[in-house]
Amino acid sequence: MAGCITGKKSYTTESLAEDALIEARTRHGDEKSGPVGVYRCEDCGQYHLTSNGVMNSRLAKYIKEGKLKLNQEANRWKGRLDR
Ligand SMILES: [Zn+2]
Repeated sequence: MAGCITGKKSYTTESLAEDALIEARTRHGDEKSGPVGVYRCEDCGQYHLTSNGVMNSRLAKYIKEGKLKLNQEANRWKGRLDR
């Protein structure tokens, strides 16, 4: 499927979109901004990320458990090793 009318990146399943959401937040490095949830699109029938609305429960759990910070730490180290 070649993209959506919204111009947003599409994900075929909700869980794929959630993975991308968590990854985006990890890269963003700020817990107070960036996408907060995923939704099913009326136009393409696939899933997109959104920065509006209620925070996704998987992301909320992820942040609450402090995994976001751990992941950032891991990415930092990985970045050093890759260089
Ligand atoms: Zn769409």
